[in-house]
Parts: sequence; C-alpha cells; structure tokens
Amino acid sequence: MSLPMFEVERPQSLGEALKILSEVKGAEPIAGGTNLMVDMRKGTHRPRVVVDVAALRDLHGIEATGPEVVIGAATTIAEMLESPILMKHAPVLVLACSSFANALIRNRATVGGNLVTAAPCSDTAPALLTLDAEVKLASVRGTRRVPLDRYLVSAFSTVRRSDELLVSVRFPIPSATAAAAFRKMGLRKVSCMAKVDVAVMLDADAAGRCTNARIAIAAASPIAVRARAAEAALVGKPITPEAIAAAAGLTAKAAAPRAGSEYKLSVVQGLARRLLAEAARALERGGTHA
Ligand SMILES: Cc1cc2nc3c(=O)[nH]c(=O)nc-3n(C[C@H](O)[C@H](O)[C@H](O)COP(=O)(O)OP(=O)(O)OC[C@H]3O[C@@H](n4cnc5c(N)ncnc54)[C@H](O)[C@@H]3O)c2cc1C
Repeated sequence: MSLPMFEVERPQSLGEALKILSEVKGAEPIAGGTNLMVDMRKGTHRPRVVVDVAALRDLHGIEATGPEVVIGAATTIAEMLESPILMKHAPVLVLACSSFANALIRNRATVGGNLVTAAPCSDTAPALLTLDAEVKLASVRGTRRVPLDRYLVSAFSTVRRSDELLVSVRFPIPSATAAAAFRKMGLRKVSCMAKVDVAVMLDADAAGRCTNARIAIAAASPIAVRARAAEAALVGKPITPEAIAAAAGLTAKAAAPRAGSEYKLSVVQGLARRLLAEAARALERGGTHA
C-alpha cells in the first residue's frame, strides 16, 4: 500500500515542536517511524502533518542524575542496548532491548514511540514497570510526570493528550543488591513480537527476607501490568521455592489473555516461576541480574 500525502515539520527545539502540536490540527509526532509509517501505509493513521521529533536534543541521552536514571524519549532501542549506565543500573531493560525486533528496527525504534504506541506486546513496558518508571509529558501548558502504570491505560491507549510530547522516561536507581530477570516468549527466537513477556526484580535483606518484589507481564493482557498481589505475597518473607510457586500462580492471575489465548496463563506462571527462581539465585550471589 502506498503512503498518503502528508507534510513534514522539522522543529529545531522542544518549544517549537510543542507549539506546532498545539496549533496545527491533525499534526502527529514521528520518531523512528517504525509504527507510524506502517500505520499510515495501512491507512489506520492519517496525520496531515508529521512532526519529526527524532533529532530534538531534549529528547536524547541516557543519564544517571543523582538518585535516578533519565532516558530521553527519542533514544533508540540500539542506544539503550549499548548503554553502560543501563547495563549497570537497569540490566532488566537491556535484556528487554536485546529481545526487541531485529538490528534494523532497533536502530530506528525509540523508547518514546514504544510507550506512546502502548501495544499490549511492548517489550520495554514490562521492564520499565519493574523499575518503577514514570514518564514526563510536555505541552505548551507545561510538563507533568506520570507513573508508567497509570500512564498505560489499555491496548493502544494512554493518558497522553494529543498535543503532548513524551519527553523522557525515568526511574529511581535500584538498590545495588537487587536482582532482575526478563524473558520474552515469541514464535521465534529473534525478530518477533512477544506472545508473553515477564520481567521480575527482587531484593532481600542479609537474612534472605524479601524486601522488594516487582513483577510485570506484557502481551498476556490488554496492556503491560504489574502483578501486585504476587509482589505483596513475596515481600517480608524468605524467598523459598514454595513462596516463588505461590507468587507465580498469583502472577498468572494478573494476566487477562484474549479468548483463545488461555495457554498464556500457564506460560506466564511457568516463566514467572523460572525468573523468580533465577533472580533469587542471583540475589544469593550478590544481585544485579540473573
Ligand atoms: C518489523 C517490526 C518489528 C517490531 N518488533 C517489536 C518488538 O520486538 N518489540 C516491540 O515492543 N515493538 C516492536 N515493534 C514496534 C515498534 O518498532 C516499536 O513500538 C517502536 O518502539 C516504536 O518507536 P518509533 O520511534 O519507531 O515510533 P514511531 O513509529 O515514530 O511513532 C509511534 C507512535 O508514537 C508517537 N510518538 C513517537 N514519539 C513520540 C514522542 N516522543 N512523544 C509523543 N508521541 C510520540 C507517534 O506519533 C506514533 O503515534 C516492531 C515494529 C516492526 C515494524
């Protein structure tokens, strides 16, 4: 299918981009274009004007500033994959990026585009949920920060308003003793969309009692979600195989696959059990990742 006619705006600053989005009817941002161009070809998106935000300086960079890590929205998946800051502080996100599409797509696709699209099978969302991430949205009216689990509403739906740009995603630097794991299950080992994603992060005190548990799933419910009941079941207790099995069962209860995809419930449960066990073993070795 051929592309419909559209105009391209290339703003030189964040302020200019926000002004265009607020004033030009039918204007839509574009970053890597790996979703938008496909949608435009299919005819499901028909922006009259696309506002190219990929080169905006305010939307770039990965920084560890004080207690948090900040990732510019136009940062590509390939850049995240190679970031020493993310390897040190957020290996769960690097693991998610390593399973993302293929090298060609990873070179264009951005974390902002991934979170704005809000596909049920987003690979960055579950990893970022275990990092307790929040997004920064900007418009001509000002900026607001929204926790990722409140930003994501449902399949392809977020609280972002049409004149807002996603500027950055940020998360508190996890404790140095925490351990994390991520697994994507798809139809192939590479270059496929997730059938199920599971991400976990665990922390424990010197006595082996769980002090923090975060578990998130994607592609097994309309949008990526935290398995809060499973997390609560772990915190305050020793991380035993029994506790892990119970938490894995509760993780499956957080899933809500479409009719015909009920097999995903047992995949979520099995993956959660495996990843929690891997993270628990990594905790015993001193943390970071499984
Ligand atoms: C072959 C192929 C394989 C893929 N594999 C995967 C995969 O394995 N895992 C996965 O999660 N996804 C995958 N995707 C989907 C896609 O690559 C990702 O969602 C990607 O991260 C989108 O980023 P982008 O920069 O290309 O977004 P774009 O296509 O540029 O934009 C997507 C949407 O976000 C909006 N947008 C972009 N940036 C901003 C911003 N800063 N502020 C506000 N709105 C913005 C656009 O207006 C548009 O609505 C795949 C896509 C293709 C074509």
